Amino acid sequence: MKTFFRVLLLTITCSAYATDSNLAEQTATFKVEKINANTFLLQAIGGNIIVNRGPDGLLIIDTDYANAAEELKKQVSKLGGMSNLKYIINTHWHGDHTGGNTLLGEKTTIVAHDNVRKRLSSRQEIPFFNTVSEPYPKSARPSLTYPQAMTIHFNDDILLLEHYPNGHTDGDSVVFFKNANIIHLGDHMFYPMFPFIDIGSGGNAISYAKNVAAILAKSNELSVIVPGHGPITDQSGLSSYSQMLDATIAEVSAMKTQGMSLEQAREKGLDEKWKEWNGGFIKEPVWIEFIYQSL
Ligand SMILES: [Zn+2]
Repeated sequence: MKTFFRVLLLTITCSAYATDSNLAEQTATFKVEKINANTFLLQAIGGNIIVNRGPDGLLIIDTDYANAAEELKKQVSKLGGMSNLKYIINTHWHGDHTGGNTLLGEKTTIVAHDNVRKRLSSRQEIPFFNTVSEPYPKSARPSLTYPQAMTIHFNDDILLLEHYPNGHTDGDSVVFFKNANIIHLGDHMFYPMFPFIDIGSGGNAISYAKNVAAILAKSNELSVIVPGHGPITDQSGLSSYSQMLDATIAEVSAMKTQGMSLEQAREKGLDEKWKEWNGGFIKEPVWIEFIYQSL
């Protein structure tokens, strides 16, 4: 039972790298959900993956944990073949989104924000999870990076990668499929739950909320919204997430302005109405702490 909870805890967290031996021994199973004829959502133990296939080949967004990579490879083979995998996009550097780069990235182009390459090329620590990530091998690092925005013309669609600064980390990309109207938010969305903000990697809860509002403004009622963690939703789901972020930040900001310490703010807590967002691995007191530290 202890092992089960340990694995469960690690698999639902956005931790840096699968170094835990229990987790490393787990076999990942992917749940595959069709978004449209040629686009699929794959979910196993880490962040949500999108696979897109078509005449130009395959493209995948994020690669889950390293120990899910063998299974991910099988899924890619089923959906069109590893030799057709043209691009891997990493939404940010965390190991639950990039761990499969080593196995899948050897013969393909890995694309990400400039800071993802920097972080994957050096030793990283996440004190919050007490985890360390060693530099990735060269072939597992992004070779195509960008500072603000990038467009990939692929499979009759236009993929816009936009960098949203200092949100979940300092290297977050949001991917917009302009024709299919799909938006992969990476860890700019944990749904429906309070988010993890990696302040040590340049994240900030206040700019995170501003980024989410800006992404919401670019969506419409037909947009397919893919969070970094959690089920697919739509514009109303993203809107409720954005409202929760803004309102809870306003609550903590008011407490801080009144001179309350972090401990006092955590004790007072948020309005009852945000209870339903407490079901993820970031519990209310931790979310309050992220906001307090970000103000
Ligand atoms: Zn993350």
